[in-house]
Amino acid sequence: AREGALFSMAGVVAGYADCTVLRGVDLDVRPGEVVALLGANGAGKSTTCAVAAGDLPATGGRILLEGADVTAWPACRRARAGILLAPEGRGVFPGLTVEENLRTWLPDPGPAYERLPKLGERRAVLAGALSGGEQQLLALAPALVRPPRVLIADEPSLGLSPLAVRQVFEVFAELRALGVALLLVEEKASEVLAVADRVAFMRLGRVTWTGPRSEVDSERLTAAYLGVS
Ligand code: ATP
Repeated sequence: AREGALFSMAGVVAGYADCTVLRGVDLDVRPGEVVALLGANGAGKSTTCAVAAGDLPATGGRILLEGADVTAWPACRRARAGILLAPEGRGVFPGLTVEENLRTWLPDPGPAYERLPKLGERRAVLAGALSGGEQQLLALAPALVRPPRVLIADEPSLGLSPLAVRQVFEVFAELRALGVALLLVEEKASEVLAVADRVAFMRLGRVTWTGPRSEVDSERLTAAYLGVS
């Protein structure tokens, strides 16, 4: 891992039953840094998220949080230590109001409304009646009030309108400013590249290239997705 890494994966192997998906993943994130994990469909990005959060065990390699080996820690223990996986499907309770959803995380939702006034206006609305973008913001609101140390988000822009995508990425920028280490997984590169400090390309269960955002141009993107890099 690079010096100053808060969260790192080294040679991580994992899969499902007899099917090995991750074949030695190397990845690290510093505090206050956004790493974009990019790659084609099926490269293993979602599996990497699951293993990072502890939802799927690693069968090889090591996962470190601030130098502590968390490879064998279950998801709940990693969550308590500050590794947060922004859940797919937004992770809100559709039958509860915005206010009730926030109260499952926060004793006082006030600070969440201060940061995201739109949620305040919608506090009495059922979460299931919100737009996809509002649901994503609702799911991220507790992180703004009580920032995790590491936030992992799997395709946070999936299915959102362009405006909602912008709002969600504003939240990520705010979390970065608070010193959170962010690992953002996307299949399409455009939105996440605007906020990323570093980029990691994934292919066939490995990270095949990683470097600063400034070194990523259209040629490198094409090469990474076509597998010629
Ligand atoms: P996608 O954008 O499709 O999610 P990805 O890069 O996130 O792509 P993964 O979802 O990690 O890739 O999938 C990598 C491989 O693991 C694929 O071949 C997929 O079929 C397989 N896989 C994913 N989830 C499971 C599962 N629950 N059981 C068995 N195989 C799975």
